[in-house]
Amino acid sequence: MSARHDILIRGGLLFDGTGAAGKPGDIAIRDGRIAAVGARIDDTTAKVIDANGLTVAPGFIDIKTHSDFTLPINPRAESKVRQGVTTEIVGHCGFSVAPALPGKVELLRGYLSASAPWLPFKATTFSDYLASFPATAVNAGMLVGHNTLRLMVMGMESRAPTSAELKAMIALLEEALDAGALGLSSGLFTAPGSYAQADEMIALCRVVKRYNAGYFTHIRDESNKVLEAVDEAIAIASACDVHVEIVHLKCSGLDNWGKAARVLDMIAAAKRRGLDVDCDAYPYAAGRSVSRIRIRAHAFARTSPAMGSIIGAAFHRGIACGFRSRPTCRSMPGARSARSRPSALRTRSTPSPTISLRTKARRGCSSPRSPKTISAISYARRLRSWVQTAIALRPTAP
Ligand SMILES: [Zn+2]
Repeated sequence: MSARHDILIRGGLLFDGTGAAGKPGDIAIRDGRIAAVGARIDDTTAKVIDANGLTVAPGFIDIKTHSDFTLPINPRAESKVRQGVTTEIVGHCGFSVAPALPGKVELLRGYLSASAPWLPFKATTFSDYLASFPATAVNAGMLVGHNTLRLMVMGMESRAPTSAELKAMIALLEEALDAGALGLSSGLFTAPGSYAQADEMIALCRVVKRYNAGYFTHIRDESNKVLEAVDEAIAIASACDVHVEIVHLKCSGLDNWGKAARVLDMIAAAKRRGLDVDCDAYPYAAGRSVSRIRIRAHAFARTSPAMGSIIGAAFHRGIACGFRSRPTCRSMPGARSARSRPSALRTRSTPSPTISLRTKARRGCSSPRSPKTISAISYARRLRSWVQTAIALRPTAP
């Protein structure tokens, strides 16, 4: 006799995803779907999974990821599925793999190569991109990136768009939203998105509102000017009546520790005024990004051409460096105030490449260094040595 159910998840604490308190019970699954939920389900023939002492919940939604870079080569997404994630929202921080206009594909490839050197970039509309995206184990909701739109229309131009260029960006945005993009993402911290001023973002977000889509922003500053940057995001919500999600909200750097309460108060006050503003944060104290975001123009200007070309070549080859915030404070022995060197490029998190642990292990050194203030020149020198090591140790693309 065949089983009534295929699987019984027995004795777990069941959460239904509505926010209601968990209840102990069983879940029966048949043909890949939940067939019954109850305090006690008896079926002697089903495969039983003992969930005693465990929580059973609907799949988690990871609302802020860059898995559009990895899902095409790893559609099983086991690193997510094994954490219980069943839906991801991708295309954040202004970066999306589409649209890619004819003649601009190499530009986009170069721009995203640090994050996704393995992707086969080709000219595509957003609609064709979605249609050709492989079937994946997780549901994927797509955003279209403002940096990508700007790159397609204006390249890396550091200026406001002409009205024709703004129209062209709006046309690309509309095509993406028509195709099913859930919204627009921005990366106002990173060029060329950082060249956009408020009027450009308002013009684009008015289109987003027309489609009842969302605006997901990596704000312009997550450090010393985080309050102003949050203000800017709230102003977009106010001007466009659009849903604004401030992604991976943080107050980065020791000077800004303690500002989180003010930032959250600002968001709460905006919500009380009827604005649709939310935020999210990642649940860990470290981050990584591409190294170019740490290099300011003046650092390049004070760097020798040879050093600059090595750094540039590394960017072109897709070398990504990680930056880890040190869980330390100024009162720690060895810690110095960055303010003691006024002309210096200040850093409170010690930057190190992703291969740093391996390198340190080889050198027999594993102790973290104190946070330091370093000059642009010494930063560039240090970066050069990391980059050379990173090039030497760079794993081949899968
Ligand atoms: Zn971001």
